[in-house]
Amino acid sequence: MTEKHLHTLLPCCKEATMLAEKQLQQPLSGLQRIGLRLHLMYCTFCRRYVKQSGAIDRYLHDYMQQPEKVTLEETIKLQWKALIAEKLKP
Ligand SMILES: [Zn+2]
Repeated sequence: MTEKHLHTLLPCCKEATMLAEKQLQQPLSGLQRIGLRLHLMYCTFCRRYVKQSGAIDRYLHDYMQQPEKVTLEETIKLQWKALIAEKLKP
């Protein structure tokens, strides 16, 4: 029981990065937010990933505010993220 509860509360790295990505698009539920925060407290890898991911998102957001560059595709954004995730692999 306790173990199961702990597992739901503490996401694995895959779940944590997924939550972090989701967070950029929409607000997380209370439990998801807590789980992500707890995970980031002890996982350096995901902390770094989230930091990078957030920075890219902000950068791309600024980038897309420029009228002449509105053609930037969502796929390019995803490619960037994949590239960075690849670089951050332990
Ligand atoms: Zn992690």
